[in-house]
Parts: sequence; C-alpha cells; structure tokens
Amino acid sequence: MTPTTSILRVLVIDDNQGDRVLIIRELEREFEQLQTQEILDQNDFDRAMAAGGFNVVVTDYQLQWTTGLDILCSIKQRYPTCPVIMFTSSGNEEIAVEAMKAGLDDYVIKASGRYIRLAASVQVALERAEIRRRASLLEIRLQRLLNRLNVGVFRSNAAGELLECNPAYLNLLGADSIANAETLQPLNLQEIYQQLLSVPQQQQEIQLQRMDETLIWVFLNVAIDAIEDEPVVDGLIEDITARKQAELQLRQLNEQLEERVRERTARLEAANRDLEEFAYSISHDLREPLRGIQGFAQVLLENAAEPLSVTQQEYLNRIYNSTQRAEQLIEDLLTYSRLGQAELSLQSVNLSLLISRILTQLRPELRQRQAQVYVEEPLAEVAGNSVLLMQVITNLLTNAIKFVAVGVQPQVRIWTEEIRNADSSLMIRLWVADNGIGIDPEAHQRIFNPFVRLHGEETYPGSGIGLAIVRKGVERLGGRVGVESVLGQGSRFWIEFLGMNDSAI
Ligand code: ADP
Repeated sequence: MTPTTSILRVLVIDDNQGDRVLIIRELEREFEQLQTQEILDQNDFDRAMAAGGFNVVVTDYQLQWTTGLDILCSIKQRYPTCPVIMFTSSGNEEIAVEAMKAGLDDYVIKASGRYIRLAASVQVALERAEIRRRASLLEIRLQRLLNRLNVGVFRSNAAGELLECNPAYLNLLGADSIANAETLQPLNLQEIYQQLLSVPQQQQEIQLQRMDETLIWVFLNVAIDAIEDEPVVDGLIEDITARKQAELQLRQLNEQLEERVRERTARLEAANRDLEEFAYSISHDLREPLRGIQGFAQVLLENAAEPLSVTQQEYLNRIYNSTQRAEQLIEDLLTYSRLGQAELSLQSVNLSLLISRILTQLRPELRQRQAQVYVEEPLAEVAGNSVLLMQVITNLLTNAIKFVAVGVQPQVRIWTEEIRNADSSLMIRLWVADNGIGIDPEAHQRIFNPFVRLHGEETYPGSGIGLAIVRKGVERLGGRVGVESVLGQGSRFWIEFLGMNDSAI
C-alpha cells in the first residue's frame, strides 16, 4: 500500500452501484486516507463541482444523465489540473482517442480482473499531476524572477527573430511589445547570431539607439545554444549608461587635473629655475667682495707698516676665518644650484671604483681624524652619473667622520643591498653607516633641507647644505635618500638607485 500523508478525495461517477462499490474497494486497498463521493445524477455532479476539493475523478462513459466525455470537459474546464480517469465497458477506441485529446488522464476498461489497474492508474495520474503542478510553479517563480530583474533577458533564433524576452529587455530598448521590438530591432539579433558562429560566447559594451532615439550604453552578454536541435541565441543586456557617464566624467576630470598639474609644474619649474639662477649669480657676485676682504686682511696681517697689537691681530684673524667660512658657504650654494641646472646623462657607475677614488681624495682628512672605513666588496653597479655620485657620497662620508663624539675613533661601514620593487625592477641601495652621535628621529626628514643644522658652528662646523646636495643629487638621478638613526647610536644613511641589470641604459 502506498503511504500517503494527505487525504485523497475521489469523485466516483457511475450509475451502477456494484461498480461503484468495486471501484471504492479497489481504491481503499491502495490509498490509506481515502474519501469518496458517489455521484448519481446531474444534481450530485453540480453540487460536487461547486464545492470542489476533490483530487481525482473516476467516471464511467455511458451514464443515464450524461456521458463521461461531457463530465471530462466540465471538469477540465473548471479544474484543469484535476486528473480524470475513464473506467468503462461501454466505450470504444474512437471515444478513448477523443477523450485523451480532451485531456483524459487514463482509460481503463471495466472487466473482471481489470479493477486492480484502476488504483495504479489513479496513482500514476496523481503523480503526473503533481509533477505538472511543480513544473508550473517553477515556471511561475522563474517568470516572476525574470519580470523583476533589472537586466534584460532574451532569446532569439538564427534568423534574428526574438523568441522571448522579459519586460526589462523591452524597457531597455524602449519597446512596448515583442512585436514592436521585433520590427525596429535596436539590437541587431541576426548580426549577433552571425558573430557567435565564430566565437560562441561574447561579452561587450556597446552603444544602442533606443526606439525614442535616445542613446544608451549596454553591457551585452550573449551565447549560442540549441533548443531541440535548433540554434538559439541566449542573451543578457544591462544598462550601464550611468557607469559610462561617470567614467567619462572621471576621465575628463583626470585630464583637467593632469593639465592643471602640468601647468603648475611648468610654472614651478620656471620659478625654480629663476630662483636658482638668482642664487647662482648672487653667490657668484658675492665671491668678489669676499676675496677682496680676505686679501686685504691677509695684507694687513703680513705687511702692516707698524706692528699690530695682539687684539688687532686676533680681529684680523677672525675677519679672515669668517670670510673663509662665507666662501665655503658660497661654494656649497653654487654646487647646490648648479645641480638643478646641469644636463645629466645616466651611465653605468661601478660603485667600488667610485668609492675607492673618493677615499683616495679624502685620505688627508681620514688620516687626520684617524678614521677607519670598511667597504664590503663587491659593491653593485648603478645607473647614475659619476660626477654627481662622487659629490653625494663624499658629503655622506665627510659627515660620517665629522659627527662623532670627542675621543671616539670614527668607524664607517659601506655596503650595497639589492631591493626588488613591486614591479620587479631592481634597485640598489648604498648604505653609509657610522658610529657617530646619531640623529633624533624627529629631525630625519628636516636635515635634508638646506641650512638645517642640529649643532652649533663651534661644535661641528659646516654650512648645512651637504645633505641638501645629497638629496637633490640623488633625486636628479631618479633615486631616493633616507636615514635610520637614534641619538647616541650612530647613523645609517642610504641612497637608492635603479640597478644596472634592469636599467634600460
Ligand atoms: P653640515 O654637515 O654642513 O652641517 P649637512 O646638510 O651635511 O650640513 O647636515 C645637516 C645636519 O645633519 C648636520 O648639521 C648634522 O646635525 C646632521 N647630520 C648629518 N650627517 C650626520 C651624521 N652622520 N651623524 C649625525 N648627524 C648628522
């Protein structure tokens, strides 16, 4: 016995009481929760039809008050999903065919031994009705979903005819019906089909003219498929006009911004050039009077007509020393401003060779301070300019041996390190580490600006331009500078350039 949870309600329509009893007995054997209603005449039938609530109908064909065919038609008209089974001995093949066409679910011949088939037939008809019910529910759900979607969905055939589509598709194209969309075809479906023959799935952003002649941007996603061996195009179409407009606006804004940045940079560069030229000529012109003062102080010191007093001699010495410092400052300023003006050519620079040349030049100073310099060979090759790099590294080295506490022997370590950028280009970092007085982290950025000095002239003499030259020089070579240091624990300055292996020089 088939276990059923819900109640099965059956209309049994047969004039013969014996047959009705047999039918009910057979069904009871198969269905646990069965409710039957026997229909004896038109009144019974009308009442049952009005009340509804039955799940299946078993009817004879030949009835005194009507025929099984009329019963079938009435039922199917009012309750299209309710299964109807004809159980008869009076029918014939023609009637059976006609009834099946009108939607009859099964035709069972009354004969002894055939009654068992009736229950099986009811069972199959119920199952089929359930499957049909579910399928149509699914279809309704899908249809609702398609109707609610903001994305247009369509299907067309090889000839470019629109087979089906959802409301969003029509909305998008500005059509009020499939026929309307079909005649004007803002989207050339045949052309799409032809394109898909070579590439079976395609996505593209295209501009469309809607039926009201407005232009929109759409994202079109189409693929070729086959339904019952007929090729069809399945497509999705989405309105992206707002995004496209935003992109366009953004692009225009970016272009405007870039233009403004270009203009401003050009103005800044021109102003910088003017300033540098001005600084250069001023420094240059200052040298003359300085040299004059220096020369006359010297003459006075050496050839004064009368011997000078000690105080006079000291004053003159001070004048002489001050002019010397001023001259050094001017020299440094000239170097700094020249850096901005010189045309630079990048070349491969062997840092090992360059540093050994610098150390040779600095030998007297190193000896005087009893400094030790360790170079961790081999040093890398960089894309740079040897004249500029010589200046930059010399400044770092002189600082490294200068800013050391009294009584401490300066020790400097030099090495290079390879660094891979995110874009996998190779950078070389040159480190100059000392055992000096160190730098407060708060000042790490500032010390690369001109005239920034953290100490008085008496403790550590200097112009405050050395590191500014380092940064400007390195930046002119497309590199970066930095320092790692804590007060009292030495400093590690670094400069970084494109490595030779990767440079396009
Ligand atoms: P200058 O050496 O002429 O003073 P710089 O521009 O070379 O000028 O350096 C700026 C300041 O940075 C220095 O006055 C000093 O205070 C600090 N500085 C530079 N190098 C070092 C170093 N190796 N150790 C400690 N302090 C340093």
